[in-house]
Amino acid sequence: MAITFPDLPYPKDALEPYISAKTLEFHHGKHHKTYVDNANKMISGTPHENEDSETIIRKCYRDQSKIGIFNNVAQAWNHSFFWRCMKRGGGKPPSGEIAERIKSDLGGYEKFIEEFKNAGVTQFGSGWAWLVLDGGKLKIVKTPNAENPLAEGKKPLLVVDVWEHAYYLDYQNRRPDFLQAFIDNLINWDFVNSQLK
Ligand code: MN
Repeated sequence: MAITFPDLPYPKDALEPYISAKTLEFHHGKHHKTYVDNANKMISGTPHENEDSETIIRKCYRDQSKIGIFNNVAQAWNHSFFWRCMKRGGGKPPSGEIAERIKSDLGGYEKFIEEFKNAGVTQFGSGWAWLVLDGGKLKIVKTPNAENPLAEGKKPLLVVDVWEHAYYLDYQNRRPDFLQAFIDNLINWDFVNSQLK
């Protein structure tokens, strides 16, 4: 099945001032779209063209002969997921099931902030920081480049893009400031809770 290019779930200026309309215009309209276009070109005429993204990601993970397909399909998936992890007026301490799990599995919201931010800051070069379910427990992990924890059987609940293209126009090299703004003002905890269902 074709890899889809979803609209943003909000207007381009919805995340200002934390992520500018200009950043979203390039990040969604150019970067994300290019991954989707490349992914569809690469899977066309191969056995992967009838598989869903998750299946392709699992099958092509760490297969050097499929690195192009993996990178573009995973980046398409990662970005579609990332947009849904944010909303205007997001951030702040979560409620509901995720709040309980953060308390029991991670030691509380302050611990979550520290660990999640640290994962994003210490991902060397391009990549992603994730909150995942791993064997029924919350964990914070980071991945390089296009890699997605579902390739290793973990369930993604929340992600932040730490490629420079995600923040450079708004924060230049200040990745920690971008991560702090994401945590304090953008995380859509309703979406994260919905992923636990
Ligand atoms: Mn990106």
